[in-house]
Amino acid sequence: MNMPSDLDISRSSPRKPLEEVAADLGLAPHLLEPYGRDVAKVSLSALDELGEQNRAKYILVSAITPTPLGEGKTTTTVGLGQALHHLGKRSAIAIRQPSMGPTFGIKGGAAGGGYSQVVPMEALNLHLTGDMHAVTAANNMLAAMVDNHIHKGNELGLDPHRVTWRRVVDINDRELRNVVTGLGGSADGTPHQTGFDITAASEVMAVLALSNSLHDMRERLGRIVVGYTHQGQPVTAEQLGAAGAMTVIMREAIKPNLMQTVENTPVLVHAGPFGNIAHGNSSVVADRIASRCADYVVTEAGFGADMGAERFFNIKCRTSGLRPDAAVLVATVRALKAHSGRFRVVAGKDLPAEMLDENPEDVLTGADNLRKQIENLRMHGVSPVVAVNAFPTDHPSEHQAIREVAENAGARVAISTHFTDGGKGAVELAEAVSEAAEEPSRFELLYPDSADLRTKIETVATRVYGADGVSYTPAAERALRSYTANGFDSLPVCIAKTHLSLSSDPSLLGAPTGWTLPVREIRASVGAGFVYPICGDMRTMPGLSSRPAAERIDIDDRGEVVGLS
Ligand code: ADP
Ligand code: MG
Repeated sequence: MNMPSDLDISRSSPRKPLEEVAADLGLAPHLLEPYGRDVAKVSLSALDELGEQNRAKYILVSAITPTPLGEGKTTTTVGLGQALHHLGKRSAIAIRQPSMGPTFGIKGGAAGGGYSQVVPMEALNLHLTGDMHAVTAANNMLAAMVDNHIHKGNELGLDPHRVTWRRVVDINDRELRNVVTGLGGSADGTPHQTGFDITAASEVMAVLALSNSLHDMRERLGRIVVGYTHQGQPVTAEQLGAAGAMTVIMREAIKPNLMQTVENTPVLVHAGPFGNIAHGNSSVVADRIASRCADYVVTEAGFGADMGAERFFNIKCRTSGLRPDAAVLVATVRALKAHSGRFRVVAGKDLPAEMLDENPEDVLTGADNLRKQIENLRMHGVSPVVAVNAFPTDHPSEHQAIREVAENAGARVAISTHFTDGGKGAVELAEAVSEAAEEPSRFELLYPDSADLRTKIETVATRVYGADGVSYTPAAERALRSYTANGFDSLPVCIAKTHLSLSSDPSLLGAPTGWTLPVREIRASVGAGFVYPICGDMRTMPGLSSRPAAERIDIDDRGEVVGLS
């Protein structure tokens, strides 16, 4: 079957004026702040004007443990939002803004795909309304103020060896992982080693995603810990006098960005926290606004359900107070076949040809991962709906195999063809989701704020990941003691591990048992509001591959962008 490219679909889809898209949600024109023709920011006064009378059904889209290719969460999120429109519901889709690092690196865009995508993809994938740049500027201004404070006499007694705040840029650039700044003469600062992370990995980005309001963002930015004194006391952005100016830089960025899908369904695009070391979900503010005007809010959490959904529940919902009504678990034939252990799927490469042969047995062999991820949703009291994201190369017997596994595990299930058919291909899914969402919500957090950090980490590791236990390096033990002494132990935990396995070892497929989670290091994002244990190597500044997507991206004769996706 020949389908037009994502870019051709994006270009040829008729767009509605944004006022009309907003009107579908009951958002009045005065609440929109247009940024060109295709994007408008939504004023935060929408929260007050809309009030709390309406409360949308809140639907999370998550997935089984993916292959490095991604299993279609964004595409399914968009398809489901469109399908709910087909059922006559007012639906709002809420997703993250893509980072330009991966866009020019390996991924080539993150707008969904086929007939379930956000348009125009060029706007979504590149700059949008500049929120990323505001995060970069706020982050780097704080870095400048830290160095300046030390240079100008260091009144707060910051230990230069214990400054943890780094600089950021929204490009994959491995050369910047470790740098020496302050070279030159004595007027040029003090030479020291530091480094750059990708902007999405900035704590400022996590703050943007988790803030409930402009003033809450101001408070959180103030709580950011930039380093420690010689006595081991934390030093904050507030103490440096930086938080107010950072908030001013971020004043526009806190407003969600309204766009639309190829079927004109409203989409709020907002924040893009790095999934490895932050909670990897779009913003609380966007969900709160959408929740006050839509019938359904459909939002995506990055990675598989063990990571994205767990963090959505235990970090994002804990922070916002919003309660999920149902969760979609995206499953694909290719990922379940990969979990059988018979194939190796490599990012940026085609699937092995024999993976496309009809083979429901391989699907069944890999099904433990699906069963465990269903359980992971259910242990939070949320009804799971398995969405089989159908690829043109799948065979009906393989879909049937997934259906049987899901039904035997007591989950609702729907085969969804939204990639090729748009919203109408996901109507069965939308019906299953609205049934699940009608059930009384029994949502519960996995652990209380008051549990100590060790208990929080062990609860997630053993119950969600299926580990036997957790081991800590001496450095991690020291961090636990220091965070407890500093009062950071009331925060939830955001465990940084590979997303390619339920375990911390990417080569262990299915639902591994008999392993221990090794915590190498623990860091705290006190401003954003979580502590993050790091298991294994975790890069916060990606590099480019030998054939970066940037090589394919260009402008054509008419000056239009080509090569995105
Ligand atoms: P995720 O959000 O889980 O990372 P995406 O929705 O971004 O996944 O999809 C990953 C890639 O797979 C995208 O390039 C998308 O266009 C493609 N894709 C997703 N679903 C399908 C499908 N049903 N058929 C063909 N390609 C698909
Ligand atoms: Mg995605």
